[in-house]
Amino acid sequence: MRYDTIIIGGGLSGLVCGIRLQKAGQKCCIVSSGQSALHFSSGCFDFLDRLEDGTVPGNLAECLVSLPESHPYSKIGAETAKKYMGEVPEFFAGCGVRLCGNPYRNSYRMTPMGDMCPTWLSLEDFPLAGEPDAKVADRALVVNIFGYLDFNTAFVADALERNGTVCRVISVRIDEMERLRMNPSEMRATNIARVMDRPEVCGKFIAAVSEELRGEDTIILPAVFGLASDEVLPKIRSSFSADVRFVATMPPSVPGIRTQMKLRKAFEHAGGVYLLGDTVNGAEMSGDKVLSISTSNFGDYRLHADNYVLASGSFFSKGLVAVPDKIYEPVFGLDVDYAGDRKEWYDTDLFSPQNYISFGVATSRDFRPFKDGKPVSNLYAVGSVLSGTNALNEGSGAGTAILTAFRTADLILGRVDSSKAGQSLK
Ligand SMILES: Cc1cc2nc3c(=O)[nH]c(=O)nc-3n(C[C@H](O)[C@H](O)[C@H](O)COP(=O)(O)OP(=O)(O)OC[C@H]3O[C@@H](n4cnc5c(N)ncnc54)[C@H](O)[C@@H]3O)c2cc1C
Repeated sequence: MRYDTIIIGGGLSGLVCGIRLQKAGQKCCIVSSGQSALHFSSGCFDFLDRLEDGTVPGNLAECLVSLPESHPYSKIGAETAKKYMGEVPEFFAGCGVRLCGNPYRNSYRMTPMGDMCPTWLSLEDFPLAGEPDAKVADRALVVNIFGYLDFNTAFVADALERNGTVCRVISVRIDEMERLRMNPSEMRATNIARVMDRPEVCGKFIAAVSEELRGEDTIILPAVFGLASDEVLPKIRSSFSADVRFVATMPPSVPGIRTQMKLRKAFEHAGGVYLLGDTVNGAEMSGDKVLSISTSNFGDYRLHADNYVLASGSFFSKGLVAVPDKIYEPVFGLDVDYAGDRKEWYDTDLFSPQNYISFGVATSRDFRPFKDGKPVSNLYAVGSVLSGTNALNEGSGAGTAILTAFRTADLILGRVDSSKAGQSLK
């Protein structure tokens, strides 16, 4: 089977790259082992939450020029990165994913612990605030579902009260949830959402909350609604006179999974082939070129393409593997940027920046990875498999995934003057 481009990994970066290529007329295939980071995400996209000195950047475009040369945003270039930032809301809207926020500035989201945390863009579920200490409401009713432990109402209420909101906490018991409650491990966000997505159950929940309202101006709910579709969200919002705000829960993430499904649908709708549950386990190479890849399911039958994109994620998704004496990239055996001394991989203080998060595949400025010191001519790497960014410490995960995916698609499509992009940093 021959494609224009084969993408290894179907998380945020692989899907965004595939959709952009497919919409430009390419024939693409995404091979993806399984769940991606979106399944566990906050439902918000981070671009650059913190600078090295710990401050939260306001104007994101202005900060781009001060990043190190090895940072993926620097490889894209400040002007192009700024252009891409502006394109993101429309790109996602075209996939049925509506985003809130200013693409050039940080805003604040409420975490599952009730704190306000900087972020870039959020799914429509989560309204953003301009300031970290913004008062969310005068009086809020914080609602949980009886028996659900991954939404800590006490933390959320405490945090809201610190900013002047008077809170009342209730727990609503719905008969249809009782079957889930028989096994405590079943009371997870996704299982609850599956039940809540049934109109009659959602209707019962709305009626139960309405009965409890005592003049509160805002209702705070866990984000356990709208797994298959977000149509239920406006329905819930319009059912109350009070403002409704959803707060992210502990993983799994219902809005994140919904986003993953919508992006996959947009890719397939554009004609792309998405092979879920298959793992790319090797590549045939000749000189500086990848000729074909093999997968677990296809066995001896190989997949061929003109170009390949590695979007296999970081350690979490097995895009990178750490063993006692080395860190390696398992599909192509690419060069990985990492500290030789194992003691430098991590800090025993859990809350300190962890170096291993910034380890990843080494690339040229045009995101071509190196193998044995030489760039591979028809292979690109995007997203969290890349080195040069500490997504956890600086809060840049989704921004890196989306912008490197845009850039790589444009490079493959010949929309970029590669003589300006291809300069090696090694
Ligand atoms: C738990 C977690 C939560 C996060 N939450 C946020 C957040 O809320 N906001 C934010 O901005 N960033 C967040 N991030 C950062 C996140 O890494 C990026 O935002 C982004 O989603 C990464 O996308 P990706 O496509 O590069 O990688 P991933 O999402 O990791 O996707 C990689 C995919 O490749 C597949 N794969 C791997 N190897 C192979 C193979 N050999 N063959 C086939 N398929 C393969 C995996 O199964 C996976 O589906 C989070 C990261 C983690 C780990």
